[in-house]
Amino acid sequence: MNPATPAPASLEALILDYNGVIGRQPTAPMWAELAELAGWPTNMHLNFQQAFWADREAYDAGIDSDRAFWTRLVRGRDLTPGLLTTLRTTDTAMWLHTDPVVLNILRAAHQTGLRQVVLSNAPHPVADGIDATEWRSTLMSAALYSARLGRNKPAPEAYEAALAAAGWPNPATTLFIDDRDSNCQAAQALGISTLHYTGNTSQLARALPALKPSLISAA
Ligand SMILES: [Mg+2]
Repeated sequence: MNPATPAPASLEALILDYNGVIGRQPTAPMWAELAELAGWPTNMHLNFQQAFWADREAYDAGIDSDRAFWTRLVRGRDLTPGLLTTLRTTDTAMWLHTDPVVLNILRAAHQTGLRQVVLSNAPHPVADGIDATEWRSTLMSAALYSARLGRNKPAPEAYEAALAAAGWPNPATTLFIDDRDSNCQAAQALGISTLHYTGNTSQLARALPALKPSLISAA
């Protein structure tokens, strides 16, 4: 948390990263399944992950299609329509596991009337998957995804779109939460308060308003 982080009661809005905050990181077996599907041998699975991230930015930003992204990643097999569908479905599913403790904290903040907006670097299929969840429709007043914005964090335009979606709250009393420090720094450059989330749910609970804080800290 930066030194200027506002008191929970004074917050006007939250802008939340998805993966690494609300969404859990994929496990090693999930990565292995995806690598196998893409044709990478077992001893090359870490290389697959590196190649995946090296190519992900344009896919996240909505520039690359599913086929363009996976064409560069598939090894030793044809990217048939069936395989493309399987890769897209498996890839999407591994990003949709959420942290129930974080969602409890966000439910408590939502009950106080705090406006909450998701700002995620995500390709179209993951965006569609998040939009179909219960928590997205009940807890979030809006969700913005890089593939739809045509911009990834840390581009300033991404944060400005999130502020607009939140109804232009004062940036100083808006808290942006992300597990990437570089994304937090870009938000700070626009005057937005930030919390660099590292998995510490107690710190997260303390930063957000709740009608019954004791119940949340015990979650
Ligand atoms: Mg993240």
